[in-house]
Amino acid sequence: MAKHTPRRRPAKEEAADSTGGPPPPVPSAKPAGAGEAAAAPVMPPEAPPAAPAHSLLLAAPAAPPGPPREAASAPPMPKAAPLPAGELAELERAATANAGAEAAARQEQAAPIAAGVSTGEPVAAAAPAPESVRSAPPVPHDQFLRPGIPRMSVVMLSPELAPVAKIGGLADVVAGLSRELELRGHGVEILLPKYDCLRWHHIQGLTPSYHDLWVPWYGGAIHTTVYQGTVHGRRCFFFEPHSNDRYFDRGRVYGESDDLLRFAFFCRAALEFLFKTGRQPDIIHCHDWQTALAPVLLYEVYEPLGLRHPRVCFTIHNFKHQGTGGDGVLRATGLNRPEHFFSRDRLGAGAPGVLNLMKGGIVYSNFVNTVSPTYAGEAKDRGGAFGLEGTLRAHERKYGGILNGLDHEVFNPETDPDLAARYTIATLERKYDNKRALRQRLLLADNAKPIVAYVGRLDPQKGLDLVRHAIFYCINHGAQFVLLGSGAEPGIDRHFRAIKQQINENPDSHLEIGYDETLAPLIYAGADLLIVPSRFEPCGLTQLIAMRYGTIPVVRAVGGLADTVFDKDYSEKPLHERNGYVFHHGDIGGLESALSRAIACYYQFPDHFRQLMRNAMRCDYSWNVPAQHYLNVYDFIRDK
Ligand code: ADP
Repeated sequence: MAKHTPRRRPAKEEAADSTGGPPPPVPSAKPAGAGEAAAAPVMPPEAPPAAPAHSLLLAAPAAPPGPPREAASAPPMPKAAPLPAGELAELERAATANAGAEAAARQEQAAPIAAGVSTGEPVAAAAPAPESVRSAPPVPHDQFLRPGIPRMSVVMLSPELAPVAKIGGLADVVAGLSRELELRGHGVEILLPKYDCLRWHHIQGLTPSYHDLWVPWYGGAIHTTVYQGTVHGRRCFFFEPHSNDRYFDRGRVYGESDDLLRFAFFCRAALEFLFKTGRQPDIIHCHDWQTALAPVLLYEVYEPLGLRHPRVCFTIHNFKHQGTGGDGVLRATGLNRPEHFFSRDRLGAGAPGVLNLMKGGIVYSNFVNTVSPTYAGEAKDRGGAFGLEGTLRAHERKYGGILNGLDHEVFNPETDPDLAARYTIATLERKYDNKRALRQRLLLADNAKPIVAYVGRLDPQKGLDLVRHAIFYCINHGAQFVLLGSGAEPGIDRHFRAIKQQINENPDSHLEIGYDETLAPLIYAGADLLIVPSRFEPCGLTQLIAMRYGTIPVVRAVGGLADTVFDKDYSEKPLHERNGYVFHHGDIGGLESALSRAIACYYQFPDHFRQLMRNAMRCDYSWNVPAQHYLNVYDFIRDK
């Protein structure tokens, strides 16, 4: 059971609950806000055969790098743009840090983004990708290795892995992609820190596998033990350093003042482990800035020592967090040579004395991608890379966007153990047992209203001002609202706790401030609508999970949201491929224009709403297609 504050409900509402209550007023569709076109609802057609959703995903990464290792030679680059400097008012300030991207996105909304939505074409591709990358057909799961792509060994370096160390979508992506690669016959090993806050019960057979790894550090070495264990069938190695710094014994994954050193140590330890154990994987797949130093260390330190075979694919899950700091990292890792690494065409961030680890990952990797084609374009061309736009442009031949997939085994309403009732498209009415269960669990009134939900980190990136507005809008417009979220900043949590207090007695809302891995599935299954009003969104998994559970997403058309959600009324997609509600302007008018249409459809056109649910559930956002894109990239950069 979720921990939640039990509430007293007003006597009147208790009575209404027991009788089912009077039907709520039926809101009429709000006229579209400024800039939001108005149109009558469209009747979706009868269920077609499975929607060809993979066609949406065949957006290819941009052209590959030149000869493998080209990146590591750190070619001269055009000057990179300087890095930008640094309770709800603060959220706003943080959001405006990305104002350039916002303004550009607004200007673009009618053209490139809309074009991307309607055609599924990549926005990011700067040059045509090779045929093998662009249009390779998806591989059936039972076919194992695709002709032409031999069995590859892949080492994933990641700060997160679902469900043992999950903060956000990155954890799900590493787990889902690894599983899909293994299903196809490739070998995968996942390396991650042995945090003291790992969810231990998800790890089987944890045993020391390499007792005495001495990791070079500040001219000496830190004694490290590497543990091996299995997480949902995946082979994992966990790194435990024995030093007074206690790098991974902090009770949390991120947010420490020495994060830069903690993860620099992880990179050095991972490469030392590969080297000492004689592993020569084909691919080292690095995720986010925390692992960005690995390709730098590989080229600058370990390749001369003999680790010549592996090539690096670097996936950026969010440009907002880049890992910047001073030269301490160079001294700690033994890279030294500040005059070499502070150069603007390597890790130099522009400001004197500042290193940017993500930039190093981009420069030194053989292929770089973000997690959706639209976000790849927003980052490189529309000011969304938080200062790394110039670096991306300089390396655009090895840069692209690959949409994240969803692990259909994990996120499956037919088998999910956390649901009150399991269901499929054919038994969709059982979804409402979950709605009832959700209401019971959160002490919500059992009435005829739709449940609108938000699940996610409470981060300014997510459009928290609009989330907040949606809470009150829903309560006042015939809907219930459920929020599950937690933030890294205590001020933001406090702000939402205050709202929770304010509406505590309202039987149509519940805010759960915290992380709850069993409540989240019940919300995805029990809600009718899920809002994702992000300022920017690299890919977004919550809208994909919602659709898998037949819950209709209401999203802002940015990043991966624009690549995966197609408006019921305005999309140029065929009717059977429309799966949600989309707005463009990141303001109250934009949000209300979509939310009001969604709520009105729920009340006034229940058949249409039901059809929309089926359309959403039919979408194939599994790993099937994205994994093939990654395999094509791996095959292209590997040492042949
Ligand atoms: P991000 O990576 O930016 O956090 P995504 O949408 O890509 O966002 O992924 C979020 C993932 O984390 C989803 O699987 C979502 O269900 C999960 N999640 C986020 N917040 C919570 C929470 N408070 N409790 C449980 N799961 C959460």
